[in-house]
Amino acid sequence: MIDMLKFRPHHFLCTIGYEGKGYSEPFTDNYDKIAEQLRVPDGDQTEIQVVFHTDDICAPCPHQRGLLCATQKKIASLDRRHCDALNLMENEILMWVDAKKRIKQKISIDTFHEICKGCQWKALGVCEEALRKLHENNEL
Ligand code: SF4
Repeated sequence: MIDMLKFRPHHFLCTIGYEGKGYSEPFTDNYDKIAEQLRVPDGDQTEIQVVFHTDDICAPCPHQRGLLCATQKKIASLDRRHCDALNLMENEILMWVDAKKRIKQKISIDTFHEICKGCQWKALGVCEEALRKLHENNEL
């Protein structure tokens, strides 16, 4: 368990929809642990710091190149759109429950289709489905 997680902007929404798929076994093993940490009952209180480079999810990714990504241009563009949509600031720290509230409030299904354009996982439909469920969650 990591006390305070670090997420780049687009990984907040990715984590809502994460269902165990990823770029390699070490990548999914690591992401499984992070998702589990956030999805247990008191996971909502986990603090997450916004970073503008590779983060705790990228850590074992085969495409990681130091603080950058092998497909940096595409990833930077995803980050920029998600950052703007969620109104995130570099180094800002927010609790997971507040991140989920912000996603619910600021990311409509139309916005999702706009800000996630170009992502290879989008066509799976799991992120859209998870976002729809988040919108229906009256506890947030
Ligand atoms: S479509 Fe891609 S960038 Fe968007 S939430 Fe899903 S995995 Fe993340």
